[in-house]
Parts: sequence; structure tokens; C-alpha cells
Amino acid sequence: MYLTCLDMEGVLVPEIWIAFAEASGIPELKRTTRDEPDYNKLMNYRLGILKEHGLGLKEIQATIAKIDPLPGAKAFLDELRSITQVIILSDTFEQFAKPLMEKLGWPTIFCNTLEVAPGGEITGFQMRCPQSKLTTVKALQSIGYQTIAAGDSYNDLGMIQASKAGFLFKSTDQIKADHPELAAYEDFDQLLAAIKGAMA
Ligand SMILES: [Mg+2]
Repeated sequence: MYLTCLDMEGVLVPEIWIAFAEASGIPELKRTTRDEPDYNKLMNYRLGILKEHGLGLKEIQATIAKIDPLPGAKAFLDELRSITQVIILSDTFEQFAKPLMEKLGWPTIFCNTLEVAPGGEITGFQMRCPQSKLTTVKALQSIGYQTIAAGDSYNDLGMIQASKAGFLFKSTDQIKADHPELAAYEDFDQLLAAIKGAMA
């Protein structure tokens, strides 16, 4: 029995923080997991910048409301979900993901949660568990699933390497160069074919 685990940002939807960096005119917010492998460090850096500029959840959600899934992402996901169970494993937060899941037809997502003060200031964040993508893939394997995984960033490498088949998708030149052993794809048709191939 197969279960496919997909990263969200950079794979199915654009990077939320890059969109918000552009909308808010704060270029420092363009750093993502593609640049900074230490997620706690990255999030604390982001929260510090938000605080400095007096920005909170409401402002970020206003940007997210305008983000659409990447072209072809919903059709890809719909077809994939017709042939295998799919879980989106993301380091994003419930408060950010909801409107994007609606646009993708409500796929299953496992992610984290933000701590938000009554005034809307983001005061912290709760990660589900350490190394959540790798830990989740291992847990799914422990209940009888063979996993197939795809993602674009450093934080996806654990689940990609621990899965029966794992792929880089729309990744960076650096990550692709560092991991020549991983097949890397740029479009949804290729990725769908590779997942079907792994299940054959
Ligand atoms: Mg990503």
C-alpha cells in the first residue's frame, strides 16, 4: 500500500513568505527553507522582522488570500489522489494553509500551528514534532504504508531519502547539485509519471 507525501510550498503553491515579502516590501522576508536549513532559526528571524514592522497574522492572511496554487497543481493532485492516498507534509501553519487547501479541494495536510495574541501579533509557533516530515514518513511506514515523497527544500530531504521512492521537485540548483542521486523534476506530468512508475 502506497502513500504519497508532498511538500506544499514551492511544490503545490508559491512560497507564502516570498509573496508576503513582496506585498509588504520587506525583502528580508524572502529567506526560505531553500536558503536556511534551520527552520527554528528561520521562523524566529521572521517573527523578529514582523514585530519590528508591527505586522501580524491579519496582514499575512490578506496576502495568502490572493495566492493561487501553481498552474497545474490542483489537476495533478486530483489525479494523484485518484490512484494513491496523499498527505501534504508542510512546515507551514494551519492559520496560513487553510485558504490554500480550499483552493486545492481540501487535501489532507499535516502542519504546525502559530501562537497568536488577541491583537493579531504572532508571538510564537508550535511545531508538531522534531523533524516532522521524516518522523511522519517513518510513522506511516510503521503502520504498513510504503511512502513516496517529493519536495523542493532542505527540510524535505529526510522524507525523500527515507521513502521507497523520493523526488526533488522544482528544487534549487544547489540542492540538485548536492544530491545527484535524487531524480529531480520540474513539471507535474513528469512527477506524476515518476510516482506511477514507483508504484508499478
Ligand atoms: Mg517547499
